[in-house]
Amino acid sequence: MPARTAAPAIDPATPPRHDWSRAEVLALLELPFNDLLHRAASVHRAHFDPAEVQVSTLLSVKTGGCPEDCGYCPQAARYHTGVDATKLMSTDAVVEKARQAKAAGASRFCMGAAWRSPKDRDIPKVAAMIAEVKALGLETCATLGMLSGDQARALKDAGLDYYNHNLDTAPEFYGEVIHTREYQDRLDTLAHVRDTGMKTCCGGIVGMGESRGQRAGLLQTLATLPAHPDSVPINRLVQVEGTPLSGTAELDPFEFVRTIAVARILMPRSMVRLSAGRESMSDELQALCFLAGANSIFYGEKLLTTGNPDTERDLALFARLGLRPMQVVEQGSTVHADVLEPVSAQMPAGRPCAAA
Ligand code: SF4
Repeated sequence: MPARTAAPAIDPATPPRHDWSRAEVLALLELPFNDLLHRAASVHRAHFDPAEVQVSTLLSVKTGGCPEDCGYCPQAARYHTGVDATKLMSTDAVVEKARQAKAAGASRFCMGAAWRSPKDRDIPKVAAMIAEVKALGLETCATLGMLSGDQARALKDAGLDYYNHNLDTAPEFYGEVIHTREYQDRLDTLAHVRDTGMKTCCGGIVGMGESRGQRAGLLQTLATLPAHPDSVPINRLVQVEGTPLSGTAELDPFEFVRTIAVARILMPRSMVRLSAGRESMSDELQALCFLAGANSIFYGEKLLTTGNPDTERDLALFARLGLRPMQVVEQGSTVHADVLEPVSAQMPAGRPCAAA
């Protein structure tokens, strides 16, 4: 019988590594499935209560009409996907949605806009939204595209806690998916956000036709950033008719679980989020993802109303798996992150901008 390799002992006080090599990451992705899950689950347990899952909500404050050409995105103006472009919502309308989310128990409210980057004249409007949402006692998050240093600072000053900006994929595969900006542009925005002291939410999308080595490249890039993202959304491509990536070969679901598991091992203190694509996953696949270390989910790709079957399915899945919403502790007080109640949060079919 071949000798089994024991998972390394885990000391949660040990600082996370930032020097992972591509070969090391690939070796993790290639572990026997059970060994990989055991190792990821051990890391998860050392840093988090594995029965807790953080739940976030998302509102599209400006939908569609985007000049970028992200090959997966139904909000790009150049693709015919049936998404109608809207103007930036009024502050009052956004605050009303945030109020509803808070009433349902939300602790964090994310505002997404389909922009390449905000214009300077948009910043005061978004800053007003952020300030008013923050005044409700909610954590604030935004995903608005690329930011300059000054824009990041203005949003931070308005009360923004988190900024979402995904790397999407490996550096060498990026040009296969997006042609209207460079990988370095993403890294620059993340640096501007980090420089202000804001928290980052940054991950990617798998199942876009990339190789396993390229998935390792995405994970390695995330895990070698100067600071690990506080949240790491791992999205599974939602194929939307009319986008260039519609018709891409489906990723093996076990490969998706492997990606989650390796993200958990590499970034042990981050929230690893199941995001876009979750609604098409079986309960069993989601359960495997939670076992592999996913501990955050997104509500927001659809309008959630009382009696919505998707909401009820999530509630039932949490009950069946013995999971509960994570308590968020901030500034000395404990806040319920229980948003497993209907929350109005609307995104166009498919996925939010930049795969929040
Ligand atoms: S992902 Fe964001 S930046 Fe890319 S096309 Fe869609 S809305 Fe625009």
